[in-house]
Parts: sequence; C-alpha cells; structure tokens
Amino acid sequence: MIKLSQPQIPESAIERVGEILRSGMLVHGEEGIKFEQELAEYLGVKHALVVSNGTAALHVALLALGIGPGDAVIVPDFTFTATANIVEMTGAKAIIVDVEPDSYNLDPTQLEAAIENWQGPETLKAIMPVLEFGNPKNLKVYRDLAKANGLFLVEDAACALGAKDDDIMVGSAAEFGCFSFHPRKTLTTGEGGAITTNDTALYEKAALIRNHGMVRTDTGIEFKCVGLNYRLTNFQSAIGRSILPSLNDWIAVRHTLAAHYTQQLEALVSDGLLRLPTIQPGHSVQTYMVVLASSIERANVITALRAKGIESNLGAQSMSALGLFAHPHNSTEFNPNGNELYRQGLALPMHEHMTLADVDQVIAVLTEVLKS
Ligand SMILES: *Cc1c(COP(=O)(O)O)cnc(C)c1O
Repeated sequence: MIKLSQPQIPESAIERVGEILRSGMLVHGEEGIKFEQELAEYLGVKHALVVSNGTAALHVALLALGIGPGDAVIVPDFTFTATANIVEMTGAKAIIVDVEPDSYNLDPTQLEAAIENWQGPETLKAIMPVLEFGNPKNLKVYRDLAKANGLFLVEDAACALGAKDDDIMVGSAAEFGCFSFHPRKTLTTGEGGAITTNDTALYEKAALIRNHGMVRTDTGIEFKCVGLNYRLTNFQSAIGRSILPSLNDWIAVRHTLAAHYTQQLEALVSDGLLRLPTIQPGHSVQTYMVVLASSIERANVITALRAKGIESNLGAQSMSALGLFAHPHNSTEFNPNGNELYRQGLALPMHEHMTLADVDQVIAVLTEVLKS
C-alpha cells in the first residue's frame, strides 16, 4: 500500500523519549523550553509556545486577543473544521469567505469585500486565514489587509510549518501563528502544536492562558487570570526537537515529488479529468490535492485506488457546506470554490518515504481508474 502520509519518528527521538521517561520529568519543562527556542529561531520570531495540539494553539491565540461573544472572525470556507469550530467555541461568530480555486487559500478580493461591507451586528475583530496544505500564497496580502483595517491577524498555519511567502516565514507575519504537530502534518509529536508571536505582551498573556493563568514566584505560585491546561509534555517536545533539523530536507523531497506529480499528471489535465494545485517555491507541500472533474464520483475513485494499493482521501471540508456555523454570510451559495474543493478534491500520497517510482505508480493506477 502506498500510504497517503506516513509519520516519521527518527530513532534518535525514540532514544531521547526513553531517557526523558526514565528521568520522570514528564510535563512541560526544560525539553519543552528548548523546543520553543529552536522553533522561534527556525521561524525567526521572538517567541514560541508549545501546546497540546493545533486546535489548542488557535484557542489560546483567540483568547489572548480577547476575542469572544459579540465578535466575529473571518475564516476560509475550505479548511479543516477546527478553524471555524474554535472561533465559535470562544463565543464569537465564524464568518466564512470563499477560497481561490487553485491555491485553496482565502480569496483576497472577496476578503477585502467582506471587510468593507461588514455591517455587524457583531464586531469584526480578526482574520484567520489558513495556509492550506502548506501554501503560503497571499500571506503578505492578508497581513496588509488586516493592518489597513485595524483587525488582528491569526495565521492558521497548522499544516504549514516551514512554508514561506517570499521572504516572510509562515507564522511570523501576524499577531499569532498557530501550528499543529498531528501525525497528518509534516513534523509530528503524536499530538502537539505551537503558537508564535513577535509581541512580548501577547506572548505573556498566551503563556498564562496555556497554564491555568499561573506563575511561579519565589514564595510559591500566583494565579494572574483564568486559564486552561494546554501544555505539551517534555517527551513530545523531544520528538519535535529531533525532527526540526530535518524539516527543510523533508520539504525539499516533497517538492521533488510534487514537481513529478505535476509534470506527469499533465496528460490527465489535457483530457479534462482533473486540475492541479499550484506549488510555488515557498510551499511546504503537506498535502498534494488534485481536483477531479465534476462528472467524476470521487468516492468511487478512492475505493478503486485502495483496491489497487493506493491510499487517497478528500482534502478538507467546506465550512459553509457543514451547516454548523449559522450566519447570513455563511451560505454555500457564496462559497462555490470551497464547495467544489470539498466535493471533488482528492489528496494523493505525499510523504518523505516515497520515491519517484511510487509517484509513477500512483499516476499509472489513477490514470487507469479515471479512464475506465
Ligand atoms: C490539522 C489542522 C488543525 C487542527 O490541528 P490539531 O493538532 O489536529 O488540533 C487546524 N487547522 C488546520 C487547517 C489543520 O489542518
């Protein structure tokens, strides 16, 4: 079976986890702090905080910005459900804006229109773009739009560690960058995530929220605000630290595989059977998703591929199609691109263990399936 994704845990990580388990220092401590420093250095940001998962990262970011009931946050239609869920879990409203059909990221023109035409009754507070599948496209545009309109920017960079929009690292452009280390992402710690920021006051607020609002003092502990426990364990941080130095090499392998897909799938594009994603240099290629022609029944394709040893899946959800986020803005009719990507998107195998021969095998089988 050629797997859709395959988490890689280096032997060095397994050894280090053993050491930490034997040491008894299990919760966030020295290892976590080192991982935070290394992440901050890798991304070129002042501060990083590791947290228990990517959803927690988004939650802490929104809470640290004071977002809650009476507020609204713009999210893209095409993403993993956590993006919109977490806005609603703060008591704010998730406002859905459609994505571009080729980058799968928030459409800047529609984003600008949504901001300009905003009429409430909620107060529009933030934009939360997703760098979908590691695509950094438009990050600078989102940053400039947020600035020009006095809105916070929170990057849902869950899949995009290592991606770069020109000279700007994903996770460094906003009030907060939020990452996930779930096994489906390129760097995994089992479960895990991180928050990044260049704003020291926001960092301190987020650190408090992550850890019960608690600080240690010379005389004991003090509780500064209400908070949560979203800490990452030391042994998970050890896994992340052992992978981070390899991340750029892994992304380079993914680019080679993606370029091969793109070149070899051109014949199916010419036949009108599918369209391809745009993979520019700064993309981190967490997922390679094609879009099947509307006449093709995706479920049948997934089943036929699996029967021939190729794992594939849908890419992500359409927030408007889920029908969970009620608001006059959130109708499917305003989000045709996100809905098409939800219906017809097909994620193909993409991970560092794959070879060009594996890509050829995927394409041979996909061609056979689509032409039969
Ligand atoms: C994976 C993902 C999340 C959630 O991350 P978890 O670590 O699974 O909580 C949020 N947003 C996007 C875009 C994701 O891809």
